[in-house]
Amino acid sequence: MFDKVLIANRGEIALRVLRACKELGIATVAVHSTADAESMHVKLADESVCIGPPAARDSYLNIPQLLAACEITGADAVHPGYGFLSENARFAEILDDHGIVFIGPKAEHIRSMGDKIEAKRTAKRLGIPVVPGSEGGVTEDSEALRIAQEIGFPVIIKAASGGGGKGMKVVHSADEMSVQLSTARSEAKANFGDDAVYIEKYLQKPRHIEVQVIGDGRGKAVHLGERDCSLQRRHQKVWEEAPSPALNAEERERIGNIVAKAMAEMQYRGVGTIEFLYENGEFYFIEMNTRIQVEHPVTEMITGIDLVNEQIRIAGGAELSFTQDEVVLRGHAIECRVNAENAKTFRPSPGMVSQWHVPGGLGVRVDSHVYQGYTIPPYYDSLAGKLIVLGKNRTECLMRLRRALDEFVVDGIETTLPLFRQLVRNPYIQDGQYDIHWLEKQLDADT
Ligand code: ADP
Repeated sequence: MFDKVLIANRGEIALRVLRACKELGIATVAVHSTADAESMHVKLADESVCIGPPAARDSYLNIPQLLAACEITGADAVHPGYGFLSENARFAEILDDHGIVFIGPKAEHIRSMGDKIEAKRTAKRLGIPVVPGSEGGVTEDSEALRIAQEIGFPVIIKAASGGGGKGMKVVHSADEMSVQLSTARSEAKANFGDDAVYIEKYLQKPRHIEVQVIGDGRGKAVHLGERDCSLQRRHQKVWEEAPSPALNAEERERIGNIVAKAMAEMQYRGVGTIEFLYENGEFYFIEMNTRIQVEHPVTEMITGIDLVNEQIRIAGGAELSFTQDEVVLRGHAIECRVNAENAKTFRPSPGMVSQWHVPGGLGVRVDSHVYQGYTIPPYYDSLAGKLIVLGKNRTECLMRLRRALDEFVVDGIETTLPLFRQLVRNPYIQDGQYDIHWLEKQLDADT
């Protein structure tokens, strides 16, 4: 096992990784920008290195600085968290060239899944059902129209290198195609440095259901059930739960087995998530994330498996510590992403947190780097913390979430807590009757 892990991230996930390392008896190195010197993970790490100014490209995305930090501290592995360099195949290769282990999948898998066109091809080849659409990239209007007519309007144009829910264009009819295609391509180029786009059937009322997988890199892979992330705003997840209120045991087993078999065949290493849209009893692959995800704790809560611990152990060459039969889903878990934002306008609200009182009690977990007196810097995403609640069943989980949200006190900044207090009381949420468009419609109706 590793002696020392450098955590190439910030915020709650840096703390999450640090906790896993401590429990494995591994020394930790925190890296931070000048804006994050007072961050919790820096205070708790065994060592810390300042790697640059606030802008992420000069610090958390700065590969030479990260390598220097490894060199100075003698770290033998790097955990990239999520975001930043976590899905950068080049970074994984550079670390490898320097004899440092990247705690994540093989570079070839990061690369092939990072290109969403290539990812869909790979998924299809491995027997995973995909959203109907173009076979590859689309550049010409005539080709786009032909595909749209074949699969039927509406369609969605997506960037091959896209992420973060950005740059997707829904096209409702043939006369919109030309403008939307050229806008999508130029936005893709501007945002992701790659103008390749592809076309998919735009599903009207799907749920977002994703399957957690873990592989040993040598042909063994298991799934840990699904997460339902249908509550979204601007294609970004707001609330996640496991298991999905929309799936029955047979559907869960069917899709889980398809995915686990595919990952075993790929010889996938580490944790990964296969994302699907689910409509009328069918699953349609949209993408794979080759990293730990923000919402991983809901899976941990219902399985009792520490995903970050497994990730580190597997990167260190260990076997999977459990078999598929040993994965037992118990109870129901929900995660709320508590963002430092106004709960109505979603305007970021950085600043000093004058009061921070988190809920507790049975089945309540808060993953957060925030503490009283901490100042949330304006330079990064606005995730202040995650409230995760476990109940024996969904009803108990919702009642527990309701009381946990009521205990949560934050002052000095605005947060999205008021939104969650409303959602947890909403009859549609209580019935589990929501698709990926539900939240936006609800928010529009409220304003
Ligand atoms: P990103 O990598 O930017 O997050 P995804 O492909 O994962 O993009 O899609 C993000 C979200 O966008 C999905 O959860 C869903 O809400 C919406 N979306 C993506 N593809 C489609 C589609 N074909 N039909 C309807 N909604 C879609």
